[in-house]
Amino acid sequence: MFPDLIERLRKREQQGLLRQRKILESPQSSQVTMDGRDYLAFCSNDYLGLANHLDLIESVSKGARRYGVGASASHMINGHFSAHHVLEEALAEFAGFPQALLFSTGYMANIGAVTALVGREDAIFSDKLNHASLNDAALLSRAKFIRYPHADLALLDQRLSTTNARRKLVISDAVFSMEGDIAPIPELVAVCEKHQAVLLLDDAHGFGVLGRQGRGSLFLPDCGSIHSPNIIYMATLGKAAGVFGAFVAAQAEVIETLIQSAHSYIYTTATPPLLAQALMVSLKLIQQDEWRRNVLTQNIVQLKEALQSLPWKLLPSSTPIQPLMIGESAEAVCISQRLRERGILVPAIRPPTVAQGTARLRISLSAEHQPCDLMRLAEALQEIALQV
Ligand code: PMP
Repeated sequence: MFPDLIERLRKREQQGLLRQRKILESPQSSQVTMDGRDYLAFCSNDYLGLANHLDLIESVSKGARRYGVGASASHMINGHFSAHHVLEEALAEFAGFPQALLFSTGYMANIGAVTALVGREDAIFSDKLNHASLNDAALLSRAKFIRYPHADLALLDQRLSTTNARRKLVISDAVFSMEGDIAPIPELVAVCEKHQAVLLLDDAHGFGVLGRQGRGSLFLPDCGSIHSPNIIYMATLGKAAGVFGAFVAAQAEVIETLIQSAHSYIYTTATPPLLAQALMVSLKLIQQDEWRRNVLTQNIVQLKEALQSLPWKLLPSSTPIQPLMIGESAEAVCISQRLRERGILVPAIRPPTVAQGTARLRISLSAEHQPCDLMRLAEALQEIALQV
């Protein structure tokens, strides 16, 4: 084996940067079971509490009876089922775009969209805090990769005005996954329009949660009703939608380009159609169950209040991603571990996922959390603060 692997792993461990998987024995929920012990969990992206919804479970088993379990082929060969097709039409309508295309994951959607749309003669402008999948996509595309400081649209404007690239693609998370803040979307769209750039907006954490009926970040009140043909929208279906997968929504010529050229769409097995069937139910629940978003909003407000007196501060986020800033990796890991000893799961996020010295506890809220869950977390953190 490569001789330096063990040494590199050991170094990571010494620096407190070794990532460890947990093994869940229960469904994903605000309460989970691991190693036979029950935990209160603040780790999932199941923001609306749909991952265990009985209607979804029922539709999965109906879907399995109708279509079988696996798609057994890629979309372009023989794996594009009616369930996929119906879902794509519903997603396009819901997200407010002419067409949509399903991908197996958000990671693959970003890789596919970026690499199919830009290449060597082009330039990508990327927010520094974008998700890893957008960064990887940019590198894979071979376009010039220009990063701008987080949400600094004046610098983005400047950088766009000095490029002579053939195509200009701006890529940004809509909700930043480790910060929880929302990109300045109307201003981003305006800068892109000014420079004839196209904007790829990754709404992995906004879809289902933000905007009218959970239609996503583009439906937030300050976005009015942005209708620019220069927006490409990506959202995932394994977070608020509670299932699995992702989609890109855009103008017809963009979607056709992805069908023809996106390798992560063409050269992979289609997602099981039973999941597409369940996603139709999920889409209905996202739309109709406004109460889930209301409970989530109440939970966000209550958490902020309950954690006010801690020595560590929450970042200013209005989304279910509430990062509690700690600083050093070892301290973040220690606090996460002490919470775990008390039966509470909150992941410590460390470099290289976030910048050096900005390790944090990433508290993810769900509509499934009860007020008593939030109080329990706050009390545990207060106790730990007195000890560390
Ligand atoms: N974009 C963002 C902003 C994300 O947070 C994630 C998932 N963590 C992805 C894309 C990838 O989505 P998926 O998990 O469906 O691959």
